Amino acid sequence: MARYTGSVCRLCRREGQKLFLKGDKCYSQKCVFGHRPTPPGQHGQARQRKMSEYGIQLREKQKARRAYGVLETQFHRYYEHASNMKGVTGENLLQLLERRLDNVIYRVGLGSSRAQARQFVRHGHIYINGAKVDIPSYLVKAGEVITLRARSKEIEHFKALREGTGRIVPKWLTFDAENLTATVAALPAREDVDLSIQEHLIVELYSR
Ligand code: SF4
Repeated sequence: MARYTGSVCRLCRREGQKLFLKGDKCYSQKCVFGHRPTPPGQHGQARQRKMSEYGIQLREKQKARRAYGVLETQFHRYYEHASNMKGVTGENLLQLLERRLDNVIYRVGLGSSRAQARQFVRHGHIYINGAKVDIPSYLVKAGEVITLRARSKEIEHFKALREGTGRIVPKWLTFDAENLTATVAALPAREDVDLSIQEHLIVELYSR
């Protein structure tokens, strides 16, 4: 599957916003975005010009897609799913993205980035209600309990998290650091999304 393999910091600069793609570095002084927030490339700064309506909508979609690490086709499928759900399509879309298992692992702090969280899921470290789930795009449901495989709890990365992850857990999730267990208390609401995304622009883009 074609995945972006270049510098992820470039993506933040391209979207003009921190997307938190690089784990602990994103929360430190080493974050490139703080001192180089201009678009990437030799003429990045000079290239900043007024964008068309289409360009603005496209950038908003790319920003959401890159932040959650979702490929184009899959992202469009989320949009179709969201538009078939009751309620506001844009909010439904963000809720679907937030419910992804890799995002949940990241949001509770078991993974330092969504990419690392995705790898943990793929490698079989994650169990839901006692059964292994190795699909990063799995959509969690209210009431589900997420644990680590018994032997995974002995891995240094996870053992260190017992002291606390330092992550602010959104209110739709709970996290028991001592037992490395997360619970989905409810489905996420719009205000639980911690990224600055104008979802109505994405809906407008797909409605063209
Ligand atoms: Fe983005 Fe993180 Fe790189 Fe900062 S360190 S530019 S937030 S990926």
